[in-house]
Amino acid sequence: MYKNKNFSAYLLLVFAFTSLQAFSQNFTKQDSLRGSITPERVWWDLTHYHLDITVDPNEKTIAGSNTIQYKVVKKGQKTLQVDLQPPLQMTKAIQNGKELDIVHDGNAHFIHLKEKQKLGKIYSVQVFYEGKPKVARRPPWDGGITWKKDANGLPFVASSCQGLGASVWWPCKDHMYDEVDSMKISVNVPKNLMNVSNGRLIKVEEKENETKTYHWNVVNPINNYGVNINIGDYVHFGEKYKGENGELDMDYYVLRDNLDKAKEQFKDATRTMEAFEHWFGPYPFYEDSYKLVEAPYLGMEHQSSVTYGNGYRNGYRGSDLSRTGWGMKFDFIIVHESGHEWFANNITNIDIADMWIHESFTAYSENLFLDYFYGKKASAEYVIGTRRSIANDRPIIGQYDVNHEGSGDMYYKGANMLHTIRQLIADDAKWRSILRGLNKDFYHQTVNTQQIENYISEKSGIDFSAVFDQYLRTTDIPELRYKKDGNTFAFRWKNSAATFDMPVRVAINGEFEWIAPTTNWQTKKMKNIVSTVELDPNFYVTLKEGK
Ligand SMILES: [Zn+2]
Repeated sequence: MYKNKNFSAYLLLVFAFTSLQAFSQNFTKQDSLRGSITPERVWWDLTHYHLDITVDPNEKTIAGSNTIQYKVVKKGQKTLQVDLQPPLQMTKAIQNGKELDIVHDGNAHFIHLKEKQKLGKIYSVQVFYEGKPKVARRPPWDGGITWKKDANGLPFVASSCQGLGASVWWPCKDHMYDEVDSMKISVNVPKNLMNVSNGRLIKVEEKENETKTYHWNVVNPINNYGVNINIGDYVHFGEKYKGENGELDMDYYVLRDNLDKAKEQFKDATRTMEAFEHWFGPYPFYEDSYKLVEAPYLGMEHQSSVTYGNGYRNGYRGSDLSRTGWGMKFDFIIVHESGHEWFANNITNIDIADMWIHESFTAYSENLFLDYFYGKKASAEYVIGTRRSIANDRPIIGQYDVNHEGSGDMYYKGANMLHTIRQLIADDAKWRSILRGLNKDFYHQTVNTQQIENYISEKSGIDFSAVFDQYLRTTDIPELRYKKDGNTFAFRWKNSAATFDMPVRVAINGEFEWIAPTTNWQTKKMKNIVSTVELDPNFYVTLKEGK
């Protein structure tokens, strides 16, 4: 016994060491400046941004300023870190009429304030910038600014910056932990074009130089990557939706030539709203309205301004990610990106290492949409079908404090973990109340993975910590091993942590029942000779006969 115990401890050490080697990367000082809450960030809390810019589609330039308003939450500090990525240049910073010194360090810019910063007081600093921003290579994944032309040869321009960071196109405190409380976005464009950003359009100013400025106002907290510009020859249509919190304005902005197609395809927007208000609770940004805005790339969850580029067809670019047929029943981009209004925009991860909070729940929301309109069988078939894209290459949770995302398995492995948890709770009304509760209790908050894990365990009354550890922090899928010998059925977990003890449903001789395996063998006497053993496919585990 003693020897065995030491041996497994040794194996664990070897495993921990090799997995660290396999998963670690080299991170730079710039990664830490970007990904951690530095001393030059922690002492001030964002209250308001006014981003005021001119976008020139011919020159492919952006120029303007961001007025950053903040409250001092720690005294004795006088240096602010503001982020802006080259080739854009931060040219000037002003506080109360006085120009400030700036020390530039790559993407981070340290602004030295002259005035004493009094605790609890609100100050603002206006930061000026200009240049040719990074061109998006593969938006939305490798983002920046997309400069395209529509079918009529008019400019069609948009920002996308998740992961890469909003500082790729505007100066800001580029870390998820601090969401600004409200924001104004003023964008000057050639007068034959329109800019659509977040929140509500409050004013359009006609300028003498053949341009117009569109002023948008956001009254709810917003994360940096949710802020966006979309510039094109847009036409507008809209509707009022009677939702859980009253009348919701749903507005659609599409390229002039696509109006008829959009009026048909965007019927999925109110369907999505209906399904997700049912499962997750009220849409979290009634005051800012809901918009669907055509963009020159696939799509992104920009807050209250979901961007759309799925080609006006169902599925994901016209194909079914689950290969079950159910994926063709809805427009993937409308459903998925709108799902993020609850998980990403309402509940936001503090560190991008915990991005599963955005993607696992939202990938999971696709099957809840199906559940609402087509029933439980359809939804289960869909989420099980998406397992084909799981890679189990590295853990879902990334490395903290260095702006590092975990594996792309945060989408469908995460969705299948949540589907498995739904089985374990075995009470859909309770599961729904947990999903709605998350959106109520973490309303407009930035959270970490532990808060989400604890919430689900606490509200369900089931300790899911071993389940979360297994699926989020390792690449191993639990394997149910079994042996049959006459009337005896023996079973245990393999390929899991020693403490893993998740119950599971199996059909022995065709009859489903719950069993509670641990990593030690247990036996069960059956009435008849054990001939067939099947797994309930709703559990994301594998089954194998043998030792
Ligand atoms: Zn997503």
